[in-house]
Amino acid sequence: NNETFLARQAEFESNVRSYPRKLPLAIAKAQGVWITDVENNQYLDCLAGAGTMALGHNHPEVLQSIQSVITSGLPLHTLDLTTPLKDEFSAYLLSLLPGQGKEYCLQFTGPSGADAVEAALKLAKKVTGRSGVISFSGGYHGMTHGALAVTGNLSPKEAVNGMMPEVQFMPYPNEYRCPLGIGGEAGVKALTYYFENLINDVESGVRKPAAVILEAVQGEGGVNPAPVEWLQRIRKVTQEHGIVLIIDEVQAGFARTGKLFAFEHAGIEPDIIVMSKAVGGGLPLAVLGIKKQFDAWAPGHHTGTFRGNQLAMATGLTTLKILKDDHIADKVAAQGVWLKEKLAGLQKRFPVIGHVRGLGLMIGIEIVKPNEAQDHMGCYPADGELSALLQKKCFENGLILERGGRNGCVLRLLPSLLISNDELEIFLDKFENALL
Ligand code: PMP
Repeated sequence: NNETFLARQAEFESNVRSYPRKLPLAIAKAQGVWITDVENNQYLDCLAGAGTMALGHNHPEVLQSIQSVITSGLPLHTLDLTTPLKDEFSAYLLSLLPGQGKEYCLQFTGPSGADAVEAALKLAKKVTGRSGVISFSGGYHGMTHGALAVTGNLSPKEAVNGMMPEVQFMPYPNEYRCPLGIGGEAGVKALTYYFENLINDVESGVRKPAAVILEAVQGEGGVNPAPVEWLQRIRKVTQEHGIVLIIDEVQAGFARTGKLFAFEHAGIEPDIIVMSKAVGGGLPLAVLGIKKQFDAWAPGHHTGTFRGNQLAMATGLTTLKILKDDHIADKVAAQGVWLKEKLAGLQKRFPVIGHVRGLGLMIGIEIVKPNEAQDHMGCYPADGELSALLQKKCFENGLILERGGRNGCVLRLLPSLLISNDELEIFLDKFENALL
């Protein structure tokens, strides 16, 4: 049963285990948005491998693409040597980038999102000859040393004594707790004013950075969409100052927010696009999209063994084609609007729901203490404990949700992008039951 497997996992694996503490199950199988545990309990999976399984579990065409690699005689792993499959994947992925990718090239970096972030940071330093990075509160970029250094969350850093130097953090907009942009144009202006001064002002002691790194919609930070004008201004300032703009689309990319890339909401073009999770269709793959003028690498400057996973390119290619051909981004955008309306209805009945936000199928529900005093912005204190309890009740009720944001006070929805409206109704029922 579940308990036996969990006890054995605790015996076999390090204390660093995280998901099994919140989601105590042993998975037997999965199909679409459903997971079945070893005791035959069914769960509606609104975590989807942390947003990786864009087409849900065991999508037949994705499985078929694995089968076709196996029967083709291709090697499973090719370093960065090319193959007809890699050629097709590369051309297709490039065609999805801004301007059909004509100004971009790709860099296969390694299996994880953090690998790609490391490569992006190094490249920005190499291109500019500068070393600093501006990053944002609540941003999440991975657990390797450099990626963690630019991650705007202190708790995972507490374990490590000393970080990479020269990261400046700036506040990221939060439409609930600090409504910059949304209803507050002045807020956006103030933030960009500060930003411009920070990088210009020799007396501040801050050097002009090599790069600015951000998520256009923060995921782990509690589902925070950046105001469009703020993104546009950051794009303009970085361009004017020759600062490399790195946009991390690891979680928000590939139709998750109702556009193929989240930065498309602002109509901007990043200098470097960081891609992982859905790009490999469920198998490990990470790729950078680099504006060609920033491709300053020389051969051997950044290598890595696992850059040629043919299975991941096959599952990635199939996933990307389905996302594009079936207009999944449009479906996801409409579902996001509908779902937020439904959740706003629940919010009226359950004042512990402080705020509902997000885009497409990247939705956050911030849980608050409605009986305590409001702060000067009119927001109630965040309630990470109740949010954890709700996550637990949802789990017991067959619903897998993730948490994020400050003290985990934001319940996060990150399901398969193929989830149906009927399945979203099941989510709403189960969530409401947990609130009762
Ligand atoms: N960037 C973002 C925006 C992410 O959400 C994540 C993972 N949640 C990462 C980077 C790191 O990816 P990985 O865990 O594959 O290293």
